[in-house]
Amino acid sequence: MLDVTGLAAGYGQVEVLHGLTFAVPKGQVVTLIGSNGAGKTTTMRALSGMIKPKAGSIRLNGREIGGLDSHEVARAGLAHSPEGRRVFPTLTVEDNLTLGAFPRLTGSRPKGDVAADRDRVYALFPRLKERRSQLAGTLSGGEQQMLAMGRALMLRPEILLLDEPSMGLAPKLVEEVFRTIRRLKEEQVTMLLVEQFAMAALGVADHAYVLENGRIRFQGPAEQLRSDPAVRAAYLGGG
Ligand code: ATP
Repeated sequence: MLDVTGLAAGYGQVEVLHGLTFAVPKGQVVTLIGSNGAGKTTTMRALSGMIKPKAGSIRLNGREIGGLDSHEVARAGLAHSPEGRRVFPTLTVEDNLTLGAFPRLTGSRPKGDVAADRDRVYALFPRLKERRSQLAGTLSGGEQQMLAMGRALMLRPEILLLDEPSMGLAPKLVEEVFRTIRRLKEEQVTMLLVEQFAMAALGVADHAYVLENGRIRFQGPAEQLRSDPAVRAAYLGGG
């Protein structure tokens, strides 16, 4: 599904990622964990075309997507729900969702029925359905997070990148986010997850990579990393 080889990226002259190699197999959930500043968000940005890789290859279903613009990456089937809930605040919930389908409609991927896809998102997040006519900017933080995930799903992505979906949410809503991730996993949605709650992320993931200073330090089945004392001590203190 997603195969990343030797990925290097950064900001201006500063290289943050120094050659990452990892894979996300179809239907699986893979998580990137690591301390603050390790490069998790930068990895997500490089994958989604928000920043240009300096070296390496990013293949989605065998097709090279490294270096494409973010709209082309979306069109190829990679959806990114970025850190910090980027929704269009002056548009309604419903319009935000409809826009999420747009790259799919202009690309070569299956067009399908946008209304049916919205219903699927509303089934996952009944709260959004209740608020479908409300302006997104007036939603609570948790609701905006749901909308950002819902909008990414409207792409019918081959792979969904979730960057800190629980950031800033109350504990009850954090649980809800993880329940949603589990449900999506049951529906075979392929996901790459970055989370501050590393233990919870390892609980839902199949495989995990530990990033340290822009390099992969360990990797393994999520269950194994979860019970590894060294990993726990170094990275999982926060929950
Ligand atoms: P956190 O959990 O704190 O979000 P992270 O693992 O996601 O950490 P990144 O956000 O990828 O880490 O940051 C990696 C490095 O890149 C940090 O040293 C950070 O200061 C730097 N960095 C991030 N964004 C930018 C930017 N827009 N311009 C310049 N440097 C940046």
